Amino acid sequence: MNRRTFLASGLTAGAALSWPLRGAASSDGFEVTRTKAEWKAMLSDAEYRVMRREGTERAFSSPLHDLKDKGIYHCRGCDQALYSSAHKFDSGTGWPSFWQAIDDGAIDTKRDWKLVIPRTECHCSRCGSHLGHIFDDGPKPTGKRHCINGVSLVFKPA
Ligand SMILES: [Zn+2]
Repeated sequence: MNRRTFLASGLTAGAALSWPLRGAASSDGFEVTRTKAEWKAMLSDAEYRVMRREGTERAFSSPLHDLKDKGIYHCRGCDQALYSSAHKFDSGTGWPSFWQAIDDGAIDTKRDWKLVIPRTECHCSRCGSHLGHIFDDGPKPTGKRHCINGVSLVFKPA
């Protein structure tokens, strides 16, 4: 085995191993970590199901969906700033939608294989809480649609 095939196979094995471990349900590797009991104590059942179990809130259920006020959307799990009203748009899907995160470092992504077609899952980079998914049918300039569960966010007016 030469060096290149060794590296390639190592990467493949590493990626395959790390994916199931790095889910939003895992607290490993995040700056902010809490036990399951701590999360349950600070979140409602609906918030816990979405943020820690990668659930999805009902479409059009979030009061943040129609919100057009200027401000910053923070992570409910750790208060990190995640999205700005400057990047919010009406996607018509029923979930708060943004064409980019407030900062590249604010969110992490992974592949989500829950449905037949793989999706890009996104979560808070600081506490690992699940936010939603990123699709490629968003508006300019990014062409991305961050489809975010409102329960994962706390809005702070500017
Ligand atoms: Zn967070």
